[in-house]
Amino acid sequence: MKERFMNTYARTGLVLDHGVGARLFTVDGTEYIDFTAGIGVNSLGHGHPRLVEAIAAQAAKIMHVSNYFLTEPSIELAEKLTEATGFDTVFFCNSGAEANEGMFKLARKYGSSKNPDKNVIVTLKQSFHGRTITTVTATGQDKFHKFFGPFTPGFVYAEPEDIAGLDALLGPNVCAFAFEPIQGEGGVRPLSRAYLQAAEKMCRERDILFCADEVQTGVGRTGAVLACERLGVRPDVTAIAKGLAGGVPIGAVLARGKAADVFQPGDHGTTFGGGALAASAALVVLSELESPGFLDEVDQKGRHLMELVEGFRHPLVKDVRGMGLMIGIGVKVDPHKIVDAARAHRLLTLTAGDDTVRLLPPLVITMEEIELGVAALKQALDDVSSAPNLVPELK
Ligand SMILES: *Cc1c(COP(=O)(O)O)cnc(C)c1O
Repeated sequence: MKERFMNTYARTGLVLDHGVGARLFTVDGTEYIDFTAGIGVNSLGHGHPRLVEAIAAQAAKIMHVSNYFLTEPSIELAEKLTEATGFDTVFFCNSGAEANEGMFKLARKYGSSKNPDKNVIVTLKQSFHGRTITTVTATGQDKFHKFFGPFTPGFVYAEPEDIAGLDALLGPNVCAFAFEPIQGEGGVRPLSRAYLQAAEKMCRERDILFCADEVQTGVGRTGAVLACERLGVRPDVTAIAKGLAGGVPIGAVLARGKAADVFQPGDHGTTFGGGALAASAALVVLSELESPGFLDEVDQKGRHLMELVEGFRHPLVKDVRGMGLMIGIGVKVDPHKIVDAARAHRLLTLTAGDDTVRLLPPLVITMEEIELGVAALKQALDDVSSAPNLVPELK
């Protein structure tokens, strides 16, 4: 079986069967606490009754009709999502990379309609924007670039937090500056409010679209609907995806003001995007997010988790970073060792960058599950520090 898959993932070997909230069960019945949420996708956890019911009901009614037609769930989602985020218009697609592609195409059309050479997109070093040729080009990490050239022209990388450097790069040929408010795959590295506000101001003055990739940080992950709200900036365009439909593939490009009506019929499209099934799932996620206290609880749970990990004062831990339930633990060893050791203690975690253990629990995780997971993490850190070479490398 295994050799029938292309060899693209360093998988764990676990075969998962079902889940309840923040707990996952393998086919042979072993239970795990889930601090991964399918890489920030399962925002409402596993087996959420309202989500399951909405998907089943919609599947029985209508699943897909193409974008030549509308369905009620997609109309309602366009309304609720723009309302919840304060944007004017939305384009639905199927993934994070596709949302970023849409954002870049929008920015290039916007720029080139002002000046044919205004097509350069500035992104950040250590960023991650996806796996298509263009989004991998936008990704400011060399390790994603080998093998896949030639790359899409017109991408330039800035050093995060270097305001003077960004100032020098944002010339008349730039149509967009795109950033993750917290760099996810690059190591859970938050950008500062001062840097983002300076970048926003420069973009406004130079008629450059200020574009957020909130594919990972969006949809409640950081304790706000979008992380940019917490950082005091208002992007012209924002891409979201991962958590939006709680596990059903979806992506969205949100735009406001001068960016809202750039596309005209024929400019851009997708076969599956905004289908009734994904839209009905996303409507449940948004309605849960908007229930009283939900986002505050995400923030409180995140703070509690961070405080517990900081409280270890563990010799392997360098620092704990993050916002809401997007948390990075900087460690002094290969983070894969900690992830493997945690799995042995029935806790699922992720890595990010070269030195970070990343935690992205379902937003509905309970305080009790957080405490159980953190206890397992402590044991994993102890295991690795007492016998660093006994822990198997991730295969
Ligand atoms: C995951 C991610 C992407 C890519 O999303 P896919 O759905 O895998 O295409 C893009 N940007 C960020 C910030 C991400 O975290």
